[in-house]
Amino acid sequence: MQVTRELFDEVMVPNYNPAAMIPVRGLGSRVWDQAGDEYLDFAGGIAVNVLGHCHPQLVAALKEQGEKLWHLSNVLTNEPALRLAKKLTDATFAQRVYFANSGAEANEAALKLARRFALEKFGAHKDQIISFKQGFHGRTFFTVTVGGQATYSEGFGPKPGGVDHVDYNDLDALKTMMSGNTCAVMMEPLQGEGGIISPTQEFAQGVRDLCDQHNALLIFDEVQSGIGRTGELYAYMGLGVVPDILTTAKALGGGFPIGAMLTTASIAAHLKVGTHGSTYGGNPLACAVAERVLDIVNTPEVLDGVKHKEQLFRDGLKNINDKYQVFSEIRGKGLLLGCALNEKFAGRSRDFLVASANEKLMCLIAGANVVRFAPSLIIPDADIQEGLARFERAVAAVVND
Ligand SMILES: *Cc1c(COP(=O)(O)O)cnc(C)c1O
Repeated sequence: MQVTRELFDEVMVPNYNPAAMIPVRGLGSRVWDQAGDEYLDFAGGIAVNVLGHCHPQLVAALKEQGEKLWHLSNVLTNEPALRLAKKLTDATFAQRVYFANSGAEANEAALKLARRFALEKFGAHKDQIISFKQGFHGRTFFTVTVGGQATYSEGFGPKPGGVDHVDYNDLDALKTMMSGNTCAVMMEPLQGEGGIISPTQEFAQGVRDLCDQHNALLIFDEVQSGIGRTGELYAYMGLGVVPDILTTAKALGGGFPIGAMLTTASIAAHLKVGTHGSTYGGNPLACAVAERVLDIVNTPEVLDGVKHKEQLFRDGLKNINDKYQVFSEIRGKGLLLGCALNEKFAGRSRDFLVASANEKLMCLIAGANVVRFAPSLIIPDADIQEGLARFERAVAAVVND
């Protein structure tokens, strides 16, 4: 069968509008399309392909498990799931793990657990979930409602209730909103989709203190910031602020779908047998791959490498900006970086994305004003230089347009 981009419009639900080229193969930080054209990947599948494409050790883990056991059900447990859970709990504050298949599902579990916890411990009045404007937590109806962009949650009828939003990095606004009725505060410890916004240390600590004061749970959504992205295994480690519940997905599977919710034993106790579940959650294939991802990423070589590569990006982007004056700020942490466009180029992030694609560079945007990079954590330095050279040509094309 001849597969073309036109086929997409004939057979797919139109909720996406993918690029004209169809990728067919990837290796490391390079991707090839049907025509054999080679692209450099600074997008990493939206912060997913943390070890690049087809990392030999991940391919081996997938093949090895693929010949042993794919799926049974949660009526039975399996070795990869328990090994992965043990490693995640050893590496973090958490003592218990719930496996899901995506970031939204991990967040859905976190929110349901928080509601159960508050209901059983304090009563039905304690149901308020507070989250932050521009935040992103997934597309199920509960998580998209907790997310901070109303345009994503509107147009689907009545929304789940008890959800309020305040400005990120505004501790006074949060303080005013919180009370004994607050069940949980959900936040990204580095806003990704919302524009690559870091919390101040004071804000992150302040949120923790307010949660303690009001007996509310602090949920960190580390779906994008987790698994080495910021140069720490999880961003909370760099902030020195420990949540009660943490969610992780995207990079956890290195490209294989998996999500997880991590928490303490005493909080986890409120999701008793039968209260929540997922057919595929914790399946052996996903867990075998994720275990290998964790083994490789959670090492000083990879985590220190992220800090070194961040500097290469920052230096290169500064050089480009010195020449063309397009960015007001280069922000973010580790290999989750955002170039905020200055006033002259406000609202034009998509133009930079398209110009980059023309130069055979895959990058991302985070809203209309930010160009975002989330490459493999082990992208070779030479690929960073080559990608930045392509990005410079793309910037020149936009500026000279
Ligand atoms: C991508 C993302 C999600 C949603 O993850 P899915 O796997 O698409 O459901 C949730 N939270 C954050 C912070 C994300 O970046």
